[in-house]
Amino acid sequence: MVRPKTEEEIELLRINGQLVSRTLAEVGKIVAPGVTTLELDRVAETFIRDNGAIPSFKGFEGFPSALCISVNDVVVHGFPSDYVLKEGDIVSVDCGTLYKGYNGDSAYTFPVGEVDAETRKLLDVTKASLYKGIEAAVAGNRTGDIGHAVQSYAESFGFSVVRELEGHGLGTEMHEDPGVPNYGRQGHGTKLLEGMTICIEPMICAGGRGVYLARNGWAVHTSDHRNAAHYELTVVVRKGKAEQLSTFDFIEKDGNIKF
Ligand code: MG
Ligand code: MG
Repeated sequence: MVRPKTEEEIELLRINGQLVSRTLAEVGKIVAPGVTTLELDRVAETFIRDNGAIPSFKGFEGFPSALCISVNDVVVHGFPSDYVLKEGDIVSVDCGTLYKGYNGDSAYTFPVGEVDAETRKLLDVTKASLYKGIEAAVAGNRTGDIGHAVQSYAESFGFSVVRELEGHGLGTEMHEDPGVPNYGRQGHGTKLLEGMTICIEPMICAGGRGVYLARNGWAVHTSDHRNAAHYELTVVVRKGKAEQLSTFDFIEKDGNIKF
C-alpha cells in the first residue's frame, strides 16, 4: 500500500533532500588521494549534526557509521575505514539524514584524482541512467518504466545492472514501498501516483552483474571485482515531470570535482 505524501510532508522531505545534497558536497570537497574513508564519514556526521539533523544510517540495523562508503568493486554498504584513497579509485558515498521525523537519502560516486577513461564512462553512464529513470518517474507510469529506462540506457554501453538491490519509497521510514528496481519491463510494476516520493538509485557494474555479500554481512562486492558505481536522488512523482528533492548541483557547481 503506497500513500502519496501531502505537500507538508514533501516540504520536510525537500529539507532533508537539500541537507543530504549539501552533505555530499562537503564530502566531495575533501575526496582526494591520501584521505581515509573514515575522514569522509567524520566530515559528513559533523555537518549533518551541525544542521540539527541525525545521520539516519548510523545504528540502522547495526550499521556503524553516518555514511556508506564503497570503494571500487564495492557496490554499496561499505563501512568507512582507515583505507587511504588513492589516485584512480572511485568512491561511492551514500548519505542519509533524519530531520523532523522525515528522511533524506542520496548517493554519489566520486572519482579520486584522475580515473581511467573506462571508469569515467562508468560514472557518466550510471549518473545519466539515473536521470533517464527520473524522466520516467511521472504520474501514470509504473515502476517498471523507471527500471526499463535505467537498464536499457546502462546496458546500451555494455554495462550491467545489479538486480539484488533497488530504489524505494522515502518518508518517515528510510525504506518504504514501492521497491524501485533498476531493471524491468515498461508498463509493469507499481503505478506511480502524483505525490509519491521515491529514491531512484542505479547500481551499475563495469563487468558482470553478479554480486556477493562480504563476511561482515554488509558490503556488497562485484563478483568479478570490477568497478561499480552508484548514484541516488530523491524525487516526488508529479504529472508530466518529476520534481527532484535532492540534487547534485552543490557537488558539481561548487565542489572540486571536474566534469
Ligand atoms: Mg542511499
Ligand atoms: Mg536509498
